[in-house]
Amino acid sequence: MAFNPFEMAQQQFDGVAEKLGLSESIRSLLRVPMREYVVSLPIRMDDGSMRVFRGYRVQHNDGRGPCKGGIRFFPGETVDTVRALATWMTWKCSVVDIPLGGGKGGIDCDPHELSMTEQERLCRAWVRALSTEVGPFLDVPAPDMMTNGQHMLWMLDEYETLHHGRYPGFITGKPVGSGGSLGRTEATGYGVICTLHEALKMLGIDIAKTTASIQGFGNVAYYACERYTKLGGKIICVSCWDNTDKQSHAFKRASGVDIVELKGISDRFGSIDREKARELGYEVLDGDAWIEQDVDILIPAALENQINGDNVSKISSHVKVIAEGANGPTTPEADVEIQKRDIFVIPDFLCNAGGVTCSYFEQVQCNMNYFWEKEEVLEKLDMKMASAFRKVCEMAKDKGVYMRDAAYMIAIDRVANACVGRGWAVK
Ligand code: GLU
Repeated sequence: MAFNPFEMAQQQFDGVAEKLGLSESIRSLLRVPMREYVVSLPIRMDDGSMRVFRGYRVQHNDGRGPCKGGIRFFPGETVDTVRALATWMTWKCSVVDIPLGGGKGGIDCDPHELSMTEQERLCRAWVRALSTEVGPFLDVPAPDMMTNGQHMLWMLDEYETLHHGRYPGFITGKPVGSGGSLGRTEATGYGVICTLHEALKMLGIDIAKTTASIQGFGNVAYYACERYTKLGGKIICVSCWDNTDKQSHAFKRASGVDIVELKGISDRFGSIDREKARELGYEVLDGDAWIEQDVDILIPAALENQINGDNVSKISSHVKVIAEGANGPTTPEADVEIQKRDIFVIPDFLCNAGGVTCSYFEQVQCNMNYFWEKEEVLEKLDMKMASAFRKVCEMAKDKGVYMRDAAYMIAIDRVANACVGRGWAVK
């Protein structure tokens, strides 16, 4: 049966709802998104032809504040994936305690095959189709897979044209100088390493003596690698998707991977050139090889469903920590095995919350119309991430539960209280 991320999100929720003893009304409110939009986006292509794309926005819950979450460009995007991602955004904003709810958007398209002008038309069409359902006080989009600051700026421009005014708080992840925050691009990857560093300190492991293998070479993976290497860690293996043969490949170098060098031979989607990598002394392996490496740390930073019942047994006995940079990389089936093996997991919606935390800082700066220095942004980011991590650890210890369950318990409890307070459910 095909993997369904939304069923996985619900399964995770149901387990924790039981542990927390949530009432029926809270469960039925939080198990499903509050609002879902599916729209057709007719686009004039550069060659004059017309194509119709499917666009999505799902608003899972806004009890704690306006919905917040990225918009992805993804071939074969499904409403269930967007539902799952929107749900995880609610828990993500809650676990780091920022006053925002959860939403997510997507367009079923393959940006590898679209020119920048076609992508601009898609961004504008998505905003036109949803312009009354999103907005600074309703639902605030941001970059996600295969979208970046340029896409956000086109969306902002369309929104501001339609609403006749300047609304910098409509969207985050904007380019610096156009309402963006310094540090936003790096924030998700840096946040991953902040929580990893905290975890290693707690486990009594010196980060400078560790090795890691990472899946993905997009924005999150790149900045995670940069930060981890700066702290003295050694990355042995990086794997990424290659659109030319529609497969992923792993790039391994036992003496350590040089990410700047790899970036120099990768395209704008983070696909590394295999021939050039071989010339630089990398072994090019099958994409799945990232998970089998004898390293201390695994960082899945690509997609959902990457550590599952089929491959969890391939994780080496060396691995001590899994830091989930991606959303939903580990399935509940794999979780059972990971728990048995006592591998320490930093769950996705805590581990990768740095991006949305910095998006929140971007909103704050836009509202004040006063922009902070990069150091100030990164310092605040570190504080927020480290404090959320410690709270989840305390909960895991106090209740004797798995880290993922502890993060869920904190996040769900806060959202449930907000909803009960508003009169949307009873305890
Ligand atoms: N797309 C990112 C995520 O999944 C960031 C969301 C945001 O900044 O709103 O967390």
